[in-house]
Amino acid sequence: MNEVTRNPRVIIVGAGMAGIATAITLAQHGYSNLTIVEKGTDVGGVWHWNHYPGLTCDVPSNLYQYSFATKPDWSRIFATGPEIQTYLADVVDQYDIRRFITFGVEVISSHFTGVEWAVTTSAGRTLKADFVLMATGVLHHPNVPDIAGLTDFAGPVVHTARWNDALDTSGRRVAVIGSGSTGVQVISALQEGSSRIFHFNRSPQWIMWSPMGMRQPRVISALLRRLPRVREAQYRALLTASGILADVTTTPSWRRRLIQQSARLSLRAQVRDKSLREALTPQDEPLCKRQVVSGSYYRAIAAENAELVSTPIDFITESGIQTKDGNHREVDVIVLATGFAAHNYMRPMDLRGRDGIAIDEIWQRGPRAYRMTAIPGFPNMFTVLGPNSPTGSISLQYTAELTARYIVQWLDMYRDGVVDLVEVTEDATADFNKQVTKALGPTVWNSGCDSWYLTEGGTVDLWPFNRRAMTEMLTKPELGDFHLTNLCDTQEGKL
Ligand code: NAP
Repeated sequence: MNEVTRNPRVIIVGAGMAGIATAITLAQHGYSNLTIVEKGTDVGGVWHWNHYPGLTCDVPSNLYQYSFATKPDWSRIFATGPEIQTYLADVVDQYDIRRFITFGVEVISSHFTGVEWAVTTSAGRTLKADFVLMATGVLHHPNVPDIAGLTDFAGPVVHTARWNDALDTSGRRVAVIGSGSTGVQVISALQEGSSRIFHFNRSPQWIMWSPMGMRQPRVISALLRRLPRVREAQYRALLTASGILADVTTTPSWRRRLIQQSARLSLRAQVRDKSLREALTPQDEPLCKRQVVSGSYYRAIAAENAELVSTPIDFITESGIQTKDGNHREVDVIVLATGFAAHNYMRPMDLRGRDGIAIDEIWQRGPRAYRMTAIPGFPNMFTVLGPNSPTGSISLQYTAELTARYIVQWLDMYRDGVVDLVEVTEDATADFNKQVTKALGPTVWNSGCDSWYLTEGGTVDLWPFNRRAMTEMLTKPELGDFHLTNLCDTQEGKL
C-alpha cells in the first residue's frame, strides 16, 4: 500500500442537520481541512429558515436528535422549531465546528476540473477542494403557487418557510392556503387570535391525533441528565421502535391497515359535524402522503371564526380570494403553506461533473443516485440526504450520520493514497435504482395519491427499504461499484 498521508480539502455545502452531522463526523475522524458554506445567517437548515407560528416537529424529540448528542431535557415530547434550532446551534458549538462555517454565502457553481472541484460562491470566491459533500436539504425551496392575481393582493402575502416575524395577524382576517403538515400547524396556531380564518384546502389530508403540546416530565429530564447510559439506551430503543413506520409504509400488512384505520377514526371521533367531516375526508389512503399529525387542527377548524374552503381558488384580488363558485372572501393576510420544490436538491447551483456533464441534464426526469449518496459522472462528490432519502420512514439523523461515516471511509482511502478519484459506476446506480423501483411497488406512497414525494418523472423519491438494509448498504463501500483512479498510476481501476 502507498504510504502517502494527506488531509483532503473538503467542502460541505449546507449547515443544516445533515451538514452538521457530516462535519462533526469528519472532524471526529481527524479531518480538519473543512469548509462549510451556508447561505443562511445561522446553522439549522429548515429549522433556521422556518419560524412560522406553531412550528413543531412531529417526530418525538428524543428521537429527533443526533446519536452522539442526545439531549436529556427536551421541554416537550414534540419539540418546537425554536428549541430544535437552539439544540443544533448548541451541538455546533459543543463540537467546535462553527469555525469551519462561512455564513451568508451561497454556492453558485461547482465544477469538477478533472483532478479537483472548483466551487464558486456568491461572494465571488472560487474554492478548490478534493471532495465536495452536498448537504443541501430536501425541503428548502419554497413553492410559491401560480395563482392568478397573487401579486395584486394589497396586504401581506407570506410563505411559511420565509415567515415575517413582524407580521401581526391578531384581530385580522387570515387566509391559509395548503393543508399539509405546515398548513395544519399554522391554522392551529393562528385561529384563536385572528378575527376570521379561512383554510383553503384543495385536497384534505388524513390527520392523526397526537399530543403535540405535551411536556416532557421534569423527573424524566432529571433522570436522563443524570444517567447518560439510560439516555443512550432510550435513544436506541426509540430508533428500533420507529422501525414500525418503515414497516407499515413499505409493506402491506394488518399493521398498515390498523394505522390507516386509526387515522380514519381520528377524523370520525374528533369532527362531529357531518358536512365538515365530509369536507375533511381525503380521497386517498392514509399514509400515502407524508402523514400529518395534530392534536388541535380539528378543533381549530370547527371554531366559530374558522371556515374550511374546499372549492378551488379561481383568482386573488386586491382585497381577497375568489373561489371557482364565484364567492369572494375579503382577507387581510394571505399565508402560503404551499410546500416546497422538494426535488431541487443542490440546484439551482450550476453543478458539473466529469467532462462538463451537468446535473440538470442527467436529472431531467428527476433525481437519481446510488444509495442516496453517489452520482455517476460526479467523482469525489457525495450527497448527504440525497435522492431516495427516507424522509417518510427512518430517522434522518441516523441516515445522515451513517452516510457521513460511509464517506469517511472514502476519505480514509484518499488520505492513505489508495485512491485519488472515486466515482460510482452507471451499472451500480442502475442496479440500485432497479431494486428501488421494485421495492416501491407495494409501498403505501405508491397507492395513488399526489404528493411532494413524487418526482417530475412520476417516481417516488423515498427509501423503500428498512433501516437494516440501509445500514448494510452504507456500512462499507463496495469497491466493485466504483471507478477508482489513482492519478499517479493514471490508470483507472488500478490500485
Ligand atoms: P405539502 O405537504 O407539500 O403541502 C402543500 C399544500 O399546499 C398542499 O395541501 C397542496 O395542495 C397545497 N397547494 C400547493 N399549491 C397550491 C395551489 N396552487 N392552490 C391550492 N393549494 C395548493 O407542504 P408542507 O405542509 O409545507 O409540508 C411539507 C413537508 O414538510 C411535510 O410533509 C413534512 O415532511 C415537513 N414538515 C414537517 C413538519 C414537522 O412537524 N416535522 C412540519 C411542517 C412540515 P395539494 O395537496 O392539492 O397539492
